Amino acid sequence: MPAKSEGQPGKTILCGRLIDGTGRAPVDGAVVRLDAAGRITAVLTGAREVAAASASTGEVIDWSSYTVIPGLVDAHNHLGMNSGGDMLAMATEPDVRKVIRAAANARVDLESGITTLRVCGEKAQVDLEWRAAAADGLFFAPRLVVSGEFICPTSGHAAFYGANCDGPEEVRRGVRRQIAAGADFIKVMVSGGAQEAPPGPMDPEYTPDELRAAIDEAHRGHRRVAGHCFGGPGADVAIEAGIDSIEHGTHLTGEQLARMAAKGIGLVVTAGVFMVEAELPSPTPAERALTVGFRDRYPEVIAQAKRAGVPLAVGGDFLHGRLDLEVEMLVKGGLTPMEALLAATSSGAAALGLSKEIGSIVPGKQGDLVALGGDPLASWAALRDVRGVIQRGVPRA
Ligand SMILES: [Zn+2]
Repeated sequence: MPAKSEGQPGKTILCGRLIDGTGRAPVDGAVVRLDAAGRITAVLTGAREVAAASASTGEVIDWSSYTVIPGLVDAHNHLGMNSGGDMLAMATEPDVRKVIRAAANARVDLESGITTLRVCGEKAQVDLEWRAAAADGLFFAPRLVVSGEFICPTSGHAAFYGANCDGPEEVRRGVRRQIAAGADFIKVMVSGGAQEAPPGPMDPEYTPDELRAAIDEAHRGHRRVAGHCFGGPGADVAIEAGIDSIEHGTHLTGEQLARMAAKGIGLVVTAGVFMVEAELPSPTPAERALTVGFRDRYPEVIAQAKRAGVPLAVGGDFLHGRLDLEVEMLVKGGLTPMEALLAATSSGAAALGLSKEIGSIVPGKQGDLVALGGDPLASWAALRDVRGVIQRGVPRA
């Protein structure tokens, strides 16, 4: 393989079993080489090459008793929120406390093997500073892809947390404000929330003209658009207008999923938060019923999405470090364990537009690797048995 980094300090990682995230079958006894900048220079699988690399004089990381997978991609989360808390209290807490909460959540995420996380809306664009701090190494966090504030109507779901924009012109200005601040993508509220009070989960948040304006303006600014949407008529407008991904999507119909597949629109599954919260004592029986309904609807919508060919990714939403639950739900919906793992790695990278950089262990990509105590293709519980995390060539856990 390339001699480019020879003579420079790099790393040699001995892998017991390698699942490289491309979909190819696992390989036992592989070696991954990284250059000094943390990029993958070679993946060696031949017995002679592996033996030679094992005797390497550079820095050797011995993961020879572990299964090695690409760093996980959480395609939908909010570092400033966590499951089980009082959402309104968390949403309105002082910014200083929000930063501390984010740091705690980011640690849990990174130590669980999530090396890239897409932040789907934070108050006052604090996520832009988090992204910079994480890139500088000041913040112990996954690589962050951020949207700034999400775009939502004044009376909409979680309006207290987003940029309130009413009417197509304000919506355009709101999108432009996020782009001007440096947002990587735009998050827009398409349907209501997982709550009893209106707007309910199937109610459209915006008029068709407002929603079209958000998607059009984001695309004019070369940004992808992620839409919070459980289903309903808002999904039809979003799909027709060419949104890039539907987040949650529990109540999408087979027909809507077919139209998404035809346009290459992805579905980001966020099942874990409903799986966990369905077991918690909820404030009201009606809200509990809603949560259980979202959880129980997922296997069917995942099966339909797979049949239609919709690209799938996963996100914890405000549950941290539990992508094993997403994989569990994808398998319940009929994906093979390998397909489910790809949703949490290379398909997640594709959803973020980062396929060239991350998502699989191949030469040229950034060295994001996770060592597991077991094989996640045999049991997704192995994703809870993290023995090591390397992010861009740097051991982080
Ligand atoms: Zn969310």
